[in-house]
Amino acid sequence: MTKPLIVITGASSGIGAAIAKRFSEAGHPLLLVARRVERLAALNLPNTMCRAVDVTDTASFRAALKEAEAEYGPVDCLVNNAGVMLLGQIETQDPEEWQRMFNVNVLALLNGMQAVLADMKFRGRGTILNISSIAGRKSFPNHAAYVGTKFAVSAMSENVREEVSDSGVRVMTICPGAVDTELLSHTTSQEIKDGYEAWKDAMGGVLVADDIARAAAFMYDQPQNVNIRELVVAATRQP
Ligand code: NDP
Repeated sequence: MTKPLIVITGASSGIGAAIAKRFSEAGHPLLLVARRVERLAALNLPNTMCRAVDVTDTASFRAALKEAEAEYGPVDCLVNNAGVMLLGQIETQDPEEWQRMFNVNVLALLNGMQAVLADMKFRGRGTILNISSIAGRKSFPNHAAYVGTKFAVSAMSENVREEVSDSGVRVMTICPGAVDTELLSHTTSQEIKDGYEAWKDAMGGVLVADDIARAAAFMYDQPQNVNIRELVVAATRQP
């Protein structure tokens, strides 16, 4: 039987790329979006449409979605994974970085949910899987704006889950602990980056992206009437 379409944002690296590989191995056609489309293409996955989309550009996300649905049928799962983490101290951080994080991590995620929900509700099935963070449940030093975005993701996910549950659509959240990806590299302060790396070393290493991809596949593969609302996945030694 043909498997349904899964859409993954931010699949050009890290957790999104690992989730794309898992769902592709399971036989799903995919729509992968990110700005670095060449990195999406380099994954070289079958039945996969790769589109250069900045998720803050709702029109271009919706256009890619329409194109993929015309090719592969209705989207059954949207993985809202694209995200940025720009750590900084409240007194010195450039407010443009706060804006960027809220645009990508929060507003684009809302737009993504809005783009797929009406059709999922109409069909009485579908899954939205939002990638939050342990930083969506507790705070960390130098994370003021980032934790704000991730607390927002967790809260919005739970709110939308309640709002659409009687239609049969599932909204799920994964809260990863520290995972070895490119996420930290965008922070501008070398001192903060060094501190974060030392914290990771002190716990003897962190997760790899596929640890989160396995969790995503496990959640999605439950029967449609089972919703694992939230899963927190972290290295055993992470405090
Ligand atoms: P990476 O930096 O490796 O990947 C981030 C992805 O997001 C890239 O594919 C990037 O693609 C995409 N992205 C960023 N901005 C945009 C944009 N404007 N439009 C489209 N895509 C965008 O980080 P991770 O894999 O670690 O992060 C994935 C998610 O997991 C994020 O939401 C992050 O907050 C969350 N997370 C990560 C943790 C970790 O320790 N790594 C812990 C907890 C949560 P491109 O640049 O090509 O556009």
